[in-house]
Amino acid sequence: MKYIRVPALSTVLTVLCLLAGLLVGTPVWAASPIQDKYQALGGPAGNLGAVIGGEKCGLAGGGCYQDYQRGQIHWTPATGARATWGAVGALWQQQGWEQGRLGYAVTDEVCGLVGSGCYQSFQGGQIYWSPASGAQQTLWGAIRNRWAAGGFESGPLGYPVAAEGCGLRAGGCYQAFQGGQVHWAPGIGAYATGGSIDYVWGTLGWENGRLGYPLTEEVCGAAGCTQNFQGGTLTWHPSTGVTVTYYQPGEYQRVINKRNPLSPIDYAPSDMVNVGGHPLRYQAALGFWQFADAANASGVPMTVISGFRSYATQATLYNSYVAMYGQERADTISARPGFSEHQSGLAVDIGNPGGACGLQDCFAQTAAGKFAANRAHEFGFIIRYPAGISYWTGYAYEPWHLRYVGKDIAMDMHRRGIATLEQYYGYPPAPSY
Ligand SMILES: [Zn+2]
Repeated sequence: MKYIRVPALSTVLTVLCLLAGLLVGTPVWAASPIQDKYQALGGPAGNLGAVIGGEKCGLAGGGCYQDYQRGQIHWTPATGARATWGAVGALWQQQGWEQGRLGYAVTDEVCGLVGSGCYQSFQGGQIYWSPASGAQQTLWGAIRNRWAAGGFESGPLGYPVAAEGCGLRAGGCYQAFQGGQVHWAPGIGAYATGGSIDYVWGTLGWENGRLGYPLTEEVCGAAGCTQNFQGGTLTWHPSTGVTVTYYQPGEYQRVINKRNPLSPIDYAPSDMVNVGGHPLRYQAALGFWQFADAANASGVPMTVISGFRSYATQATLYNSYVAMYGQERADTISARPGFSEHQSGLAVDIGNPGGACGLQDCFAQTAAGKFAANRAHEFGFIIRYPAGISYWTGYAYEPWHLRYVGKDIAMDMHRRGIATLEQYYGYPPAPSY
């Protein structure tokens, strides 16, 4: 039976229901699931109070609803009839009713939770309410799953105290709870932070600081409690409070950028070999030969345009760019001496035989550029200056500039979708000197 309130049809339905009522003896006015639900909740004497107006249809998903003094009942074929009221109903309304991310209610409100709390499930998530935390939504997803794994509102996190917020660095999201927070980022997962460790992490700049996102939960033992982050660990002990230990990248992962020069400033590696007419450190050369062999085997020959450049060479190069473009522009396309990855002997600029799109953006669309983007990580290289992230690296997109970091790290960065060495080791952005 449909519940469309067209007067003529309504009259017909009423007659039919009356007849059906006479025949089988069911109550005549229990004519719709919304009416049934209202009666089941106590009718005018229940939480909803008196009826206001008529039942209205035409909502998304074939939905209908009815207003009452203190709430609503919404019905759809998929969700059945569900009542909303009070603080939970008010938040749902504020989020745009069934049009919002929560969609329709799929349960009624359930109370009796710890701290006199209640919750209600919706298509897109849940709303939890308690006297202490008010009504807050949790959306289905990794953050809510982490909260659930800890025992929901009965666990250490307690009730949510804010909605999930997104737009954090690297596409991350977070939600605050009574007992701490849960942060999630793509390729990293969702982890909770709380107490002193959470506090100190905050003073160090949360996920934007050198520690970056949490990679584990806090683990406690005889030596105190420890939590691992992208860029290091935080350890809490009752006698010492919280201590921070930053990870030190190994010699092949060394972060060289506009805020982190080589040391000493005129550093030159001592283990270089010749690769296509250009010097590279031995480990980087081994990786590059395998990379170039694999490219060749796929029918993609490539050339080496530049490898190691000494402090003196870089000084000459940089000064020529300054003379040509001025310092501001030069700083976006060339490193100052002592600040170039090429001086480390771990960076190589590649090109196509014949020079197509050499050292230009369009190199990314050439055979060699595509092979590098798709396969370089398998051989220990990263595209060090990706597109659209110059505010971290300080450099415009350079699809030809490969940096050797070793196979383990390159593969891990690829797997976790971490674009830059700075983010991987939790270094702050280095857009300028
Ligand atoms: Zn380069």
